[in-house]
Amino acid sequence: MEPTLTSTAPNPASSSSGAPETVAPSSHGDARRSSKILRIKALACEVLARQVYLAAAQSPHAVDVEMLEKGLHDNADTLRSELQRRIDAVPETRYDAVVLVYGLCNRATEGLLAQRVPLVLARAHDCITLYLGSRQRYAEQFDAHPGTYYFSAEWLERGAASGLAAAGAAADEGMAYGSRLPSKFETLVRQYGEDNARYLMEVMGSWRQHYTRAAYIGQPCTRCDLVSACSHDAPYHARVRAAAERNGWQYVELDGDSNLVARLLEGSWDEEDIIVVPAGSTIVATFDERVVRAGNPD
Ligand SMILES: [Zn+2]
Repeated sequence: MEPTLTSTAPNPASSSSGAPETVAPSSHGDARRSSKILRIKALACEVLARQVYLAAAQSPHAVDVEMLEKGLHDNADTLRSELQRRIDAVPETRYDAVVLVYGLCNRATEGLLAQRVPLVLARAHDCITLYLGSRQRYAEQFDAHPGTYYFSAEWLERGAASGLAAAGAAADEGMAYGSRLPSKFETLVRQYGEDNARYLMEVMGSWRQHYTRAAYIGQPCTRCDLVSACSHDAPYHARVRAAAERNGWQYVELDGDSNLVARLLEGSWDEEDIIVVPAGSTIVATFDERVVRAGNPD
């Protein structure tokens, strides 16, 4: 592995030199202790656009962002092909790392090959982990309220049914939990055999017909200095609340946490939450709490 890609671990020898004055204090920014400025290409899903642009602007590294359409999510093979095409196009002479601002996403990122530049990916089933800041928080939400549609500002702004004036059923569908269940299925097959696993999945999947909740995940407002009582998200709240009322769902607002996206673009790639896939290796799904690991191509 490139030594520069591990230089973001806490380094007592260099920390005494201090970060540049212009770098804002950060609760998760060990990367700023490294003097090496990495050149990062971020390939990001547009449903995380606001977080990504904010984190790119605040990163101690040089980040170039390529935003990919939300609609690519509809087919895992299509998304995988498009991501691989863009990964292959990244010149190793210009970039030190390609950061994928994605999760496993219905296994769309499984099998992606780091060609000449290392790939970086969060241990996340899908973007909801990136909204909530940790896969533990996502698991808590899923266990307590599996039948939940999740919404974010970007989700409402972008895609075919975008625009706050948009109405109708299509706009009602937020991000349903798509990628956790297939991975759960693989685990169940290993534990109980395929027939039993299918039965268990049917029982566990019954929430699909019984959505009970719409959750709007908000991030701290970047358009004003108010800590609370900000009104900028009000139109989004109203739209999700209306969708919930039409469908007889509970409406909740969840506090988002952008620390995971920030760490991705800051170069704070701790093994616990983020994997670095060296050039020549692929992303492998693990079907356990680690979600993904680096592996050798077949
Ligand atoms: Zn605001």
